[in-house]
Amino acid sequence: MRVPKAGAMAVVVGLALTATGCGGDEGPQGTLSIGIKFDEPGVGLREPGGTFTGFDVDVATYIAKELGYKPEQIEFKKVDSSDRELLLQYNEVKFVAASYSINDKRKAKVDFAGPYFTAHQDILVRADDNSITKAEDLNNKRLCSVSGSTSATNVKEKLAPKAGLLELGGNSECIIALQEGSADAMTTDNSILAGYAAQKGNTGKFKLLGLSLSNESYGIGVKKGNKELVEKINAALKKMVADGAWDAAVKKNFGSANYRNEPAPQITTGS
Ligand code: GLU
Repeated sequence: MRVPKAGAMAVVVGLALTATGCGGDEGPQGTLSIGIKFDEPGVGLREPGGTFTGFDVDVATYIAKELGYKPEQIEFKKVDSSDRELLLQYNEVKFVAASYSINDKRKAKVDFAGPYFTAHQDILVRADDNSITKAEDLNNKRLCSVSGSTSATNVKEKLAPKAGLLELGGNSECIIALQEGSADAMTTDNSILAGYAAQKGNTGKFKLLGLSLSNESYGIGVKKGNKELVEKINAALKKMVADGAWDAAVKKNFGSANYRNEPAPQITTGS
């Protein structure tokens, strides 16, 4: 009876060695949680069927692949502008790819890889509105912006301090407010506004003013202190630009939005 038992053991050990030892392409195990926007067409959008589209989704998926993860290991989690730092601090997500501008206030709480994209703050109005053509025109108008965004801060601090600012949780709420008339304008990055203006069902409804009210350098947010991950993501971003995937993602996601993107920025974070 002893001989077959030992034989069975040998088979089990042999299988275990095969499972971990062969192929050489075993990536990290488990799920990779990535924070993205769920409501920004062209940038980060959860489609009705539960799939995800947008430039940030493509960038995040490319990074995940370079980190060794398979697409089925990715779990996209919804982030809002106001909770991106918290979700990183509490390890809810490994990184954030969510139209996330790099700035000093945020750098005190999280680290950034990148930048990987340059956008500019702009204003969206209803197509038939000719009363708003520049930022100052927003004073005494009702303006919607997202709480926790650089756009809302810029309005309050410099662009139009006398605007009646309606701060909502997400840009999809602002676009409804604009459409329904509870806001006269909305402001955020041109990349995001162009996506709404071009969305099916919205064509002809809105007008993008084409102002360049700020420079928004998008970074990939990671937990503060994780220098190794910043370096790895920077390497992935450089590769994405070099091999043409960055251009392809821009074309695919911003192509129909009548919007001219800036060229890929230099990666400057990390050491
Ligand atoms: N890029 C700006 C920011 O990070 C506006 C867009 C957003 O809130 O995601 O605040």
